[in-house]
Amino acid sequence: MDGFPVVIVGAGPVGLAAAVHVRSRGLTPLVLEAGSQAGAAVREWAHVRLFSPWAEVIDPEAAKLLAGSGWTAPDPARYPTGGDWARDYLQPLADALGDQVRYHARVTGIAKLGRDLLVDDAGRDEAPFMVHVSTPEGGERVVARAVIDASGTWTGPNPVGGDGLSATGEADAVDHISYRVPELRSPAGRRRYAGKHVVVAGTGASALTALVAFGELAQTAPATRITWLVRRPGTSHTFGGGDNDQLAARGALGRRAHDAVAAGHVTTVTDFRTAEIAGRADGRLLMTSFAGATVADVDEIVAVTGFRPDLGFLSEVRLDLDPVLQAPSALAPLIDPNVHSCGTVRPHGANVLRQPDAGMYVAGMKSYGRAPSFLVMTGFEQVRSIAAEIAGDHEAAARVELTLPASGVCGGAGLFDETETSAAGGCCSPQPTGDLLTITDAVQPPCLGSADNEFVTTVTAVSGRS
Ligand SMILES: Cc1cc2nc3c(=O)[nH]c(=O)nc-3n(C[C@H](O)[C@H](O)[C@H](O)COP(=O)(O)OP(=O)(O)OC[C@H]3O[C@@H](n4cnc5c(N)ncnc54)[C@H](O)[C@@H]3O)c2cc1C
Repeated sequence: MDGFPVVIVGAGPVGLAAAVHVRSRGLTPLVLEAGSQAGAAVREWAHVRLFSPWAEVIDPEAAKLLAGSGWTAPDPARYPTGGDWARDYLQPLADALGDQVRYHARVTGIAKLGRDLLVDDAGRDEAPFMVHVSTPEGGERVVARAVIDASGTWTGPNPVGGDGLSATGEADAVDHISYRVPELRSPAGRRRYAGKHVVVAGTGASALTALVAFGELAQTAPATRITWLVRRPGTSHTFGGGDNDQLAARGALGRRAHDAVAAGHVTTVTDFRTAEIAGRADGRLLMTSFAGATVADVDEIVAVTGFRPDLGFLSEVRLDLDPVLQAPSALAPLIDPNVHSCGTVRPHGANVLRQPDAGMYVAGMKSYGRAPSFLVMTGFEQVRSIAAEIAGDHEAAARVELTLPASGVCGGAGLFDETETSAAGGCCSPQPTGDLLTITDAVQPPCLGSADNEFVTTVTAVSGRS
């Protein structure tokens, strides 16, 4: 096994950090990246500003590697955009890793060498992995001593459909649907959205970013109408912790979204789970909920309802995933947004991320499955611990010391169906107990009272077709 590399799927922030930690352990990493550059997913949201400053989005071990390459560290207090993150950190880091990062290399399958999911021989645990890779030159096989899947969830946006499947007519309407926050400052963005009736669906940070951006657009193009579709019965927990959010920029985002809604640019429709999107003769769309409520005369839909992991290429690897979140079962109780959704996720490592097939780990955004609260500094800690475990340093793998900021972003990708009252447990519920980790707990923010926040223009969807 010693001669084989540790294969890392994805050259995003967590995959690249994994490579650095694997190297620092004297092992050989091989990062396989489907895109043509480092941070291929991050570059697709280049125009979005992070709510974390530079200090929190650079892996400390990676910074040491970069320091030796003449890299100038960005101002730790500033907040980069996705584009800045890719250009000023991820690409230089990938360049410093040299040929340990391969581009145009899409992982299409992973299995224990010569064994499918069923084969249960004595050598399964010791067997290396066979990684199937699609490249422009054709298919390739790479043998790996261990695999860290850090392929993110960016390619798996949730559909508009309220049952998790595409709504009737969603595929036909796809030219009028964006599954990411659009760039509204560009001429193309203005052309597409200014003066239109835009539906924003979702309640996570991306939805708040979209509401702020559309609120700004409505100031300069007053004919722009925004309808905010929310699956839950209310929005009181959607705007986060405001001043109490230890992620200051994320608190500010919630406040700004709240202000955009309160300013009257946005009509909020709650309890709306989309069943159908029908094209009308005038080219506009009619959205209908499962309860029969409608939103008419829609020009464009911005669906930011969260992401789901691609488990397709893991079909021959033994996984132990939570049936709801699709996150590693041992991690799910720590991140379940229905239990404690404010970013009070405990730092964790290899012991909750390892999979039943020895040497297989899921890390980064993908490790959270469908849970919305992932912070990249959590991912850096994950891969530090995983690299230690692969190298056989179990003491370092088990020692997890990281203070995560508490965040009042109570909610996410439409996972919540509880009443407003029961959802409040998400923010103020006790921290889960964990017996695996050494941690330093961050301060828990107080919950914002639901009544304090509930002053937005809210239209509860009415049953019955109109
Ligand atoms: C708009 C937005 C803003 C965010 N802001 C913050 C923030 O301020 N602070 C914070 O802490 N977190 C933030 N996050 C969350 C998270 O930190 C980022 O999404 C981060 O990019 C996750 O890193 P990752 O490496 O796990 O996954 P990704 O960045 O998604 O990287 C995965 C990589 O894997 C590649 N890939 C995918 N499939 C394959 C395959 N089959 N084979 C090979 N390669 C593959 C992709 O091309 C991609 O390059 C934000 C997320 C979004 C979407």
